[in-house]
Amino acid sequence: MERITLHDKTFRIFIPHNEIQKSIEELAKKMNQDFNASEVPLFLSVLNGSFMFTSDLLKHLNFQCELSFIKVSSYSGVESTGELKHILGLSADINGRTVVLVEDIVDTGATIVELYKMLTEAGAARVVICTLLLKPDAYKKDIPVEYVAMKIPNDFIVGYGLDYDELGRQYKDIYVLDTPSNQK
Ligand code: 5GP
Ligand code: MG
Repeated sequence: MERITLHDKTFRIFIPHNEIQKSIEELAKKMNQDFNASEVPLFLSVLNGSFMFTSDLLKHLNFQCELSFIKVSSYSGVESTGELKHILGLSADINGRTVVLVEDIVDTGATIVELYKMLTEAGAARVVICTLLLKPDAYKKDIPVEYVAMKIPNDFIVGYGLDYDELGRQYKDIYVLDTPSNQK
């Protein structure tokens, strides 16, 4: 599908599925080199947005790892509110562990800063950030974002797990808001 409509907005295709998959395979290759048998990291996937990314990424990892899910939210509509509304579901024991935080997208960085703090306070030995997408022009925080599959401009995107007010998560491609300013 070239264009989709969700609620009141139209989106056009931006990153096709095969490109997403290629970038994830590259990222997994890097992780496979960096992680080795001496530690079993805990992958902590941030729901809901990163469910597809987490699933596709983990299929390519060849070291032992654990997986758990948490939930947060800082978005309302198409803009980050900068405030976390909730952090739910951290049941895994993270004391002394290497935790790989798996995000769909890092925008202002408010979410990862909060989570980084929370996980460090909960005793994680090391918190590593891994994200499908990074908006480098929006991200102004100090925490290093070690694993990035793709960098994108400051546009609002949906699909491949990401939503616009809860719609659009199921698409296998990534779409961008079809505003006059970013029409090609
Ligand atoms: P941050 O806290 O870095 O500002 O934003 C992180 C969260 O905001 C992401 O996990 C994601 O849920 C949401 N977000 C940021 N940018 C976008 C975007 O372009 N599209 C969608 N659908 N969500 C976004
Ligand atoms: Mg999210």
